[in-house]
This record gives sequence, structure tokens and C-alpha cells, in this order.
Amino acid sequence: MLYYSTSKQSPTVNFRDATIAGLAPDKGLYFPSEVPKYEPAFIKNIRKYSNEEIAFTVIRPFVGDCIPGNLLRDIVSETVNFPFPLHTIKENIYSLELFHGPTLAFKDVGARFMSRCLSFFNREKKEKVLVLVATSGDTGGAVANGFFNVPGIDVVILYPSGKVSDFQEMQLTTLGGNVTACKVDGTFDDCQALVKQAFADDGLKSHVSLSSANSINVARWLPQQFYYLFAYQQWQHEDVPPVFSVPSGNFGNLCAGLLAYACGLPVDHFIAACNANDAVYDYIQSGIFGAKPTIATISNAMDVGNPSNFARLLALFNEDHVSVRKVLSAYSISDEETKATLLRVFRDRNYLLDPHGAVAFRSLELFLEEHPAKKGILLETAHPVKFQNVVQPLINEAVEIPAGHNSPVTSGKLTQKLSSRYSDFKEFLLQPGFGK
Ligand SMILES: *Cc1c(COP(=O)(O)O)cnc(C)c1O
Repeated sequence: MLYYSTSKQSPTVNFRDATIAGLAPDKGLYFPSEVPKYEPAFIKNIRKYSNEEIAFTVIRPFVGDCIPGNLLRDIVSETVNFPFPLHTIKENIYSLELFHGPTLAFKDVGARFMSRCLSFFNREKKEKVLVLVATSGDTGGAVANGFFNVPGIDVVILYPSGKVSDFQEMQLTTLGGNVTACKVDGTFDDCQALVKQAFADDGLKSHVSLSSANSINVARWLPQQFYYLFAYQQWQHEDVPPVFSVPSGNFGNLCAGLLAYACGLPVDHFIAACNANDAVYDYIQSGIFGAKPTIATISNAMDVGNPSNFARLLALFNEDHVSVRKVLSAYSISDEETKATLLRVFRDRNYLLDPHGAVAFRSLELFLEEHPAKKGILLETAHPVKFQNVVQPLINEAVEIPAGHNSPVTSGKLTQKLSSRYSDFKEFLLQPGFGK
């Protein structure tokens, strides 16, 4: 499989080079040059397959011969070694729980897969790879955990000061080792801009070998297809394919679902469930896209004003707005509505959503009001305990940390403070020791 850049200036590359590069040299995102189709028997018999077998079958054509089959099997089985249950909330709404991984959010899957691929690709090099990642909340923890102590890799995480939850900040700042967390005086989009600028800086790249662990990286993006197949494997309504409601910020997760659909997964419709950050919502309504300043909300992992993966959304539909609208609807849900939904579902259905899941639930409800014969799945992307500060006052109860997951240690936070100026960031990265 070859990957082309969505900016169409850079040459095509294989999975290995796309993973190492992160962003293409022309600043486009790598996108598969062909869409592999599932064997009809694979979908028909999907109940007979284990999660490992599903994941291996799905990812194999995208990796090609860049990783030997037996090793890819090992990587995949380490990636999906926790449950992905489909929970019935009511007769037509189901929740795919993606929060049973080590950092209690869905990003564990992509981070675990990518760290192992990158470590394999770098196995013979003397110099370390320096992985840069900007986070709106959950990426940082997942990447820190997924890459912690992985040989040959140093990690620098940028997060917006005061805009991630306490639990999230603990998860990304307390590991130490090969993981450095930087608290940036700015928004998530500022963090993302710093990472993008570093990638475009040839002077910097002549000193350190850079890679990115944001969902722009194909090795983080592609394994997110698994969720949709795991959901379908548990789906009981063979003649009514599911509608998927995806809480969206940078749009990596949703684009992975759309890719699985293009490969042949039966899906009725997709919903981009957005908070007040509604750039893609506006595009779906009007056909015109414009990046917007980030707005802080209670579903903070979706506070993205200029979603990176929008380029992939366009690539999936050959930039045709009419085709986009056939498959994808969007909703923008306010914080008030998110809170009301969270509380209502907790009271009426005895099911505790996190704020991101509540945005997806409400979006799905609105869609189903117009399409009463359909049934849908919302992707519950994080455990509510990660948003204790929002959830606890609402329901008037403390949320328990699930068994087997310890509270991140509250002492010894290791953070480096940075301004949002690129020159400061560069100086920081050029310190001796990084990536050596
Ligand atoms: C990252 C994140 C999202 C947004 O996912 P994208 O792939 O960036 O659209 C939604 N919910 C949670 C909990 C997240 O951590």
C-alpha cells in the first residue's frame, strides 16, 4: 500500500515512511492510495472472529510488507488486549465503550499501535526518534502511556495550560522517563501549530529526527477502524445497519470509521457529533469550510477550531460536498444541552456518560427523531471519571475509578512551561539530550 499526501506535492511513500514522517513534506496528510475491500465472508462471519483476528485482517493491507506478518500479529494483539463492549442504553441507542484501555480513553488503541510500529522501524538506528504530540486532553495520556519506555523513542507532549482536566494532566505529566510534558500558554490549536511548525523546520530536522503521534500519523489513525468492526461484531440487527455517532474534534476517529465503511463495513449513516467548535458542522450545512478560533467547552478533547483530519474527510469523498452529505450529518451541541443529556441518561437509564459521549448521545437522539426506524451506536470515547470536575457536581455523586486502574499519582508533576512562540519551543527542543 502506498500513501499519497493530501496536498499532492510530495511523492507517495509506504506505511513505514508515512509513519516515520507523520506529516508529509508538503504539509499534507498521508492518505491510502487505494481502498482495500473486505472479503464478503469476513463481514458475514464476523461473529466467529476474535478482536485480534478482526484487527489483523483490517490493518494488514494498510501495512503491506513493512512489518512481517507474525510481528504485526503480536503488535495488534498488544494493541487490543482489553474489552470493547457494546452496551444497550435503550432499544435504539447503544454505546460502544472505548474506555477500557490503560488511560481510560479510546486513544490508547492508536497510541499503542503506533509506538510499537515506530519502535520496530527504528530498531537499527543509533539515534532516537523524537515524537512530538499536541494534545487537547486525552492524546497526551494515551501517548505517554503507549510510548513510555519504548526503546529508541523520546516523547514531547504539548498541552494547553488550564484547558485539560486535572486527571488528564496527571496522566500525561507524571510518568517521566522518556516522556516530557510541556504546558503551553495558549490553546490546543496553538500547540498543534507549534508541532506543525517544527515539522516544517529543516534546520531543526537536521539536528533531530522528528515524528508525530497526533492522529495525523497514519499509524495512529488507521487502527481506529477497529472500533467500528468490533461494534458490528456485537450488533444484533443484521437487517438494520447501524448509524454511528462519533464525538469529533480533530476528526481522526470519524474519518477512520468512514474508511472502514469504504472498505465494505455495513453502516447506515455517520454523525459528526460536535460541541460549540462547529467548523465541520458549518461545512456540512453549507459546503464552505473555514477554520475558527477554538472555544473552550466541557467536552474539552473536542475543542478544536481547525481540525487536521478535515483534509482526509475531503479525500474520502473526492472533495464532493453532495457525497459527504449523503453519508454524514452533523450536530453542534451546547454545554447546557450536554449537561442536561448526561444527567437525563443517568437518571432515566442508569448509564453514566462522559461529556463527549453525551454530545454523541444527544446528536444521535436528534438524528433518530427524524429517522425513527433506524438504530444507532454512539462511541463512548472516555470514562466519565476523567471528567470528574464536570460530572460529579451534575449527578451529585463521586465517580469511581474502575477496578484495575489506579489514580495517577498526584505528586511530582513534571512539566515544562512554554509560551506559544515557536522560537521558544525550538530552543527547548535543541537542548542536548533530546533525541540522542
Ligand atoms: C480525542 C477525543 C475525541 C475527539 O476525537 P478526534 O479523533 O480528534 O475527532 C473525542 N472524545 C474524547 C474523549 C477524546 O479524547
